[in-house]
Amino acid sequence: MFTSLKGRSVIVTGASKGIGLGLAQRFGLAGCKVLVVSRNLGEAKSAADGILAAGGTAQAFEADVTRQADMQAMAGAAVESFGGIDILCANAGIFPPSPLATMSEADFDSVMATNLKGTFLAVSACLAAMKAKKKGRIILTSSITGPVTGSAGWAHYGASKAGQLGFMRTAAIELAPHGITVNAVLPGNIFTEGLAGLGDEYIRSMEASVPMGRLGSVTDIANAALFFATDEAAYITGQSLVIDGGQILPESLAAMAV
Ligand code: NAP
Repeated sequence: MFTSLKGRSVIVTGASKGIGLGLAQRFGLAGCKVLVVSRNLGEAKSAADGILAAGGTAQAFEADVTRQADMQAMAGAAVESFGGIDILCANAGIFPPSPLATMSEADFDSVMATNLKGTFLAVSACLAAMKAKKKGRIILTSSITGPVTGSAGWAHYGASKAGQLGFMRTAAIELAPHGITVNAVLPGNIFTEGLAGLGDEYIRSMEASVPMGRLGSVTDIANAALFFATDEAAYITGQSLVIDGGQILPESLAAMAV
């Protein structure tokens, strides 16, 4: 049904683990050439090796999304190795919990620097290469937290994730004449290394709040991102897609009882 993505050049930030790794693996499976980006080259290499072992094409790249020079070097590496940039998944993000009562300026700044400024730096670094092709797909990993819901301990995170959507809407307008779309996936609670770090009690309470009765998988997110990347999604821009097993639907836990 969909035109093949085989041979397309894809950058995934935060691809050494979690949702980013799921994105990189899914695009690898679709025949894309994937630049696997994280701050830890060893972990990025392991992720790239896994894609190569599955018959895909991948290369590791060490970069910090908070640094403009790193993002420009990342875009340059994709152009040099893969002949351009077709798809950017701006996915790298952090979610250290911090109640407002004790949240420091540094706590707030570091979440904003990675999640929001990192999105801007990754996107802007890839624009020249996408404009040269007169076509491109940018897929942001936002969240339900911030754009749709709130969660105690994550005011800074929610602000950064809602901020990504504000950025997306204007970027989509500015880039539409160049054939570049900008869309966002909004994951609910997805089982990743980062989420596991929040502890068993958090995981169990989240499972109980999802109508489908389970946390999402990284593949659930990757399949949605893959759709935004297709030629057939060319007329969809500035949109966000919630992938959460119905988590945002019930108005209370009682609302889930039948
Ligand atoms: P994760 O398992 O902690 O993985 C995060 C990835 O981002 C790692 O590859 C990490 O690698 C990389 N990273 C972090 N800071 C970076 C930086 N400054 N520069 C480059 N890479 C960086 O997290 P996740 O759960 O997969 O989350 C991924 C994205 O999904 C985030 O944007 C998060 O907000 C979003 N999200 C997750 C969930 C969920 O339930 N898991 C729900 C909603 C939204 P290094 O540490 O090696 O750099």
